[in-house]
Amino acid sequence: MGQIKVTFPDGAVKEFAAGVTTKEIAESISISLAKKAVAGKYNGKLVAYQAGLTEDGALEIITKDSDEGLVVLWNTASKVLAAALKQLYPEMHFGQGQETEHGFYFDTDNQAGQVAETDFEKIEAKMKELVKANLEIETVSYSKEEALKLVAGDPYQTELVEEQAQEGQVIGKKLGDFVDFSNVVTLEKTGAVKVFKILSVAGAYWKGASSNPMLQRVYGTAFLKQKDLDAELVRQQEARERDHRVIGNKLDLFFVDPKVGAGLPYWMPNGATIRRAIERYIIDKEVAWGFQHVYTPVLANLDLYKQSGHWDHYREDMFPPMDMGDGEMLELRPMNCPSHIQVFNHHKRSYRELPLRIAELGMMHRYEKSGALTGLSRVREMTLNDGHDFIEPDHIEDEIKTLIQLMTEVYHDFDITDYRFRLSYRDPENTEKYFDDDEMWEKSQSKLKAAMDDMGLEYFEAEGEAAFYGPKIDVQTRTALGGEETLSTIQLDFLLPERFDLSYIGADGQEHRPVMVHRGIVSTMERFTAYLTEIYKGAFPTWLAPKQVEIIPVKNELHFDYAKQLQSKLAAHHIRVSIDDRNEKMGYKIRQAQVNKVPYTLVVGDNEKAEETVTVRKYGEEQTQAMSQADFMAMLSRDIESYSRK
Ligand code: ATP
Ligand code: ZN
Repeated sequence: MGQIKVTFPDGAVKEFAAGVTTKEIAESISISLAKKAVAGKYNGKLVAYQAGLTEDGALEIITKDSDEGLVVLWNTASKVLAAALKQLYPEMHFGQGQETEHGFYFDTDNQAGQVAETDFEKIEAKMKELVKANLEIETVSYSKEEALKLVAGDPYQTELVEEQAQEGQVIGKKLGDFVDFSNVVTLEKTGAVKVFKILSVAGAYWKGASSNPMLQRVYGTAFLKQKDLDAELVRQQEARERDHRVIGNKLDLFFVDPKVGAGLPYWMPNGATIRRAIERYIIDKEVAWGFQHVYTPVLANLDLYKQSGHWDHYREDMFPPMDMGDGEMLELRPMNCPSHIQVFNHHKRSYRELPLRIAELGMMHRYEKSGALTGLSRVREMTLNDGHDFIEPDHIEDEIKTLIQLMTEVYHDFDITDYRFRLSYRDPENTEKYFDDDEMWEKSQSKLKAAMDDMGLEYFEAEGEAAFYGPKIDVQTRTALGGEETLSTIQLDFLLPERFDLSYIGADGQEHRPVMVHRGIVSTMERFTAYLTEIYKGAFPTWLAPKQVEIIPVKNELHFDYAKQLQSKLAAHHIRVSIDDRNEKMGYKIRQAQVNKVPYTLVVGDNEKAEETVTVRKYGEEQTQAMSQADFMAMLSRDIESYSRK
């Protein structure tokens, strides 16, 4: 056998006989390293500890206490889970299983009924047996016939075997009697999976495609140490408490009732108040930045969306058109761009008007898959903080920089700090989704990249995430449940101006084609409210809080009048204030104000009444402070005007 050259992270290069394993290499370096190591990363790909390396490459040795070591542990735990399930439910069919961001899963299809939470203990006990036995997890090469026989009756495993056979080799993972063909890099034995927990079950489509059958995904997590598992469970509990659907329910912000329409949220007064504050803020901000706000209809003739290309490239996400019976077809808009194009086109435009920035809180409808609908963050009716800039072609970079500045200012006001930029390109293979003009794509993608590079911003690139008409800069944020979601977006578009034959008269007196920039700063009112609810954990800063002040009379019969006076004064200053005059103990009422996360609680009794003062308790603080009405008003105004809570 020949030799291969292996490059180490420090740049050193060593030669080994082809077929050498990561384990052998680790042993040649040091025994202590070999003891800690669990796998390799060869040319960027995770490889099993005992897998032979046959070509030159760069090797990183993965130790069990590293992040990737944890991935290997989770993969292993997913196999142990599947093997345990097979023993408990011999009729079960198996999809794929692997690590997740915080643990592992295995997809299953149980012929004898679904796995329930009450089964978790039993599953864990069975897994413990397999761990205790410290069984070997073998990587076995099968003939296609042998493999098909092993998984006979299981349509998912059969599909995996067929796929592997097409590639030329069928390799399975064998753990005791259990064999499966979703291949992930695991440890060699089950014994290391000591600290683990089964967490939940949820539906998941086979291979993630909604046209496929729905399987049941069993989730768990595992760690080397109990204290890490404990910390993870606390983190998950906190995440659940931060979930906007949970808080939205507690604070009575909104509801969605599938009986009246999945993905069609109802905004209750508290949620509506927050939304109104966001809407007023963003309109004022954008007007100050040169945007002209408009109102345009949610319905338009279907021809508009045929002309724009939505009907060809975005139909899947659109509600079916309404046939009005007289030959007219009306469509609920899935995006506002064609509407704003009408606004641009309504007048002859001159270069002096450019950049022309048209904005709207535009309501739109998208037929999102029912499985994807989530509270307010993914809905079917939404109102986007939308805007379209019509610009001269040589102003692209300037405009993008302006928009990023606007965005940064807005993020600052809302205390949004945890985000990253994604440059979203087309997938050149997907000609159904993306219009076919290589040159236009190359040009617009490189313009966006240049603007980002020029501003020195960090970003990552993603293929296949562009809009059908052009590439985007997306701002990615995290949801409480750990998913990533787009909040803001800036999109460059040479296509729609072509499609609608847009023009302006340039300085040379000739007609020119403008470029369009689509942008959403605070996303849809729905997603943004969901996001804010999660980052604030329901404790909205005063300017957004549904109720800003709660007044609590010490004794209703003695102090209600004074409370009422105070309320009128505050209300006259547009403060959202109420009096808690229920016949409850004062301590209880104070606690309730905290539970409802009201920024200021005022307690008023004899002293306050006599001296025309208030005793103030801020949300989350223990101590109270007595002050004059005027001082309180000044403090409150300062707080509201400063936007952020700090
Ligand atoms: P996504 O990838 O999240 O489906 P998209 O790329 O289709 O979004 P755009 O057409 O760019 O979205 O829409 C503008 C913004 O509207 C998105 O960046 C996102 O913040 C928000 N948004 C999109 N779809 C939904 C939805 N179903 N519910 C709530 N907000 C949404
Ligand atoms: Zn648009």
